[in-house]
Amino acid sequence: MIFYMKVCKFGGTSLADADQIKKVCDVVLADPSRRIVVVSAPGKRSDSDIKVTDLLIDLANACLGGNDGRPELDAVVSRFDDITAGLGIPEELPALRADLEKLLTLSRAHSGMFMDALKAAGEDTTAKLVAAYLRKTGNDAKYINPGQAGMRLTDDFGNARLLEESYKSLSALAGKDYLTIFPGFFGTTQKGDIATFPRGGSDITGSILTAAVNAKVYENFTDVDYVYRVNPKIAENPDPILEITYREMRELSSAGFAVYQEEALLPVYKRGIPVNVRNVNNPSCMGTRIVLERDCAGAPIAGIANDGDFCCMYISKYLMNHEYGFGRHVLQIIEENGISYDHTPTGIDDMSVVFKQAQLTDEAKSSITKRLFTELNVEKVDFAYDLSMITVAGEGMSRSVGIAARAASAIARAGINIEMITQGSSEVSMAFAVKGSDDREAVRSLYAEFFG
Ligand code: ASP
Repeated sequence: MIFYMKVCKFGGTSLADADQIKKVCDVVLADPSRRIVVVSAPGKRSDSDIKVTDLLIDLANACLGGNDGRPELDAVVSRFDDITAGLGIPEELPALRADLEKLLTLSRAHSGMFMDALKAAGEDTTAKLVAAYLRKTGNDAKYINPGQAGMRLTDDFGNARLLEESYKSLSALAGKDYLTIFPGFFGTTQKGDIATFPRGGSDITGSILTAAVNAKVYENFTDVDYVYRVNPKIAENPDPILEITYREMRELSSAGFAVYQEEALLPVYKRGIPVNVRNVNNPSCMGTRIVLERDCAGAPIAGIANDGDFCCMYISKYLMNHEYGFGRHVLQIIEENGISYDHTPTGIDDMSVVFKQAQLTDEAKSSITKRLFTELNVEKVDFAYDLSMITVAGEGMSRSVGIAARAASAIARAGINIEMITQGSSEVSMAFAVKGSDDREAVRSLYAEFFG
């Protein structure tokens, strides 16, 4: 008798080839409460390999560029050929191939719509073949089509968002006596066209289904045992995180932790359902749990993240703080030049705006500078490039004295100049801007200070 259900999602590396897919199925079958399985498209089998989603993007671009797309389609089919052969279900290939062939006949009039229909085919084909393999091995499993199940999305192709009405239809996925195999990453618009979430969006699908069926936990399987306190490529053998809150994870994901698709946590966060990040290659390891609240005693900081390629625009004007609407006007100028910002630290007579520098075209830079001088009479505008933002996140920060001082001294000890400091009012995180070339050293010194 099953008292509660789990939704589990498997990422691209966990599904990269037949052997991996067998492991995924073993993991699913090992726990009868795993009832809904969300799959990504097969990822890379080695560093030089290409993800199926990227092969599909190449295919779409070839077709949109006026080519027949035949070699690109063959590359996709060949990945699924290898997988079906390895799983001992070669009889499934003709039907899967026929579905993929149909992609070439779709209208190319709307390039975004065409691109999304092709991108979605990786997850869709994988879900069909995982369900077929489970059935072949004697299990009751069913492929469920997201559009038919009611995963309704906005028509922002490539960047679609869930329409709230979906929850009602998707809740019907609960309580089935078969295993539901659900492709991640896409749904359909109200008009019935396929639309995808941003890249990495299968995480979002898993989170939505977890919320819709009110599952007990959302298990997110990857190929690492834990989320670590800091990028293991920067600090050697960092501590694993056993428990972290959604807010801490959100801060760290947006600051460069590549664990999670950033928007993925929202549906489960709203319902307070825990997420368990686990390793498909080591299923006995309990992994990292993302929860609403954790006991911060002795561990005020959850982790340290770094992210590069930021630009800091610095503006100064004497008596700026006496002017009504000064900040709003600056941000409006930024917005009207198509830039979204990450931080806006201010002083009495100065203000900085920090954003990803790829957004700053030459044209935007000269328009912003000109408008700041003419519309706001600023005295100085400077741009600093190639900065890295280092974020230290932890719910315990607001209750512990001296965290900022410890962090700043750790960076100073490494002989690194802090270009800017910012702390959100929630006191869950603080961020330091340093020169891009200094960020790894700064992260190592912070890690040693808080966890060494
Ligand atoms: N296959 C998609 C991607 O590569 C979505 C996902 O894997 O989550 O972005």
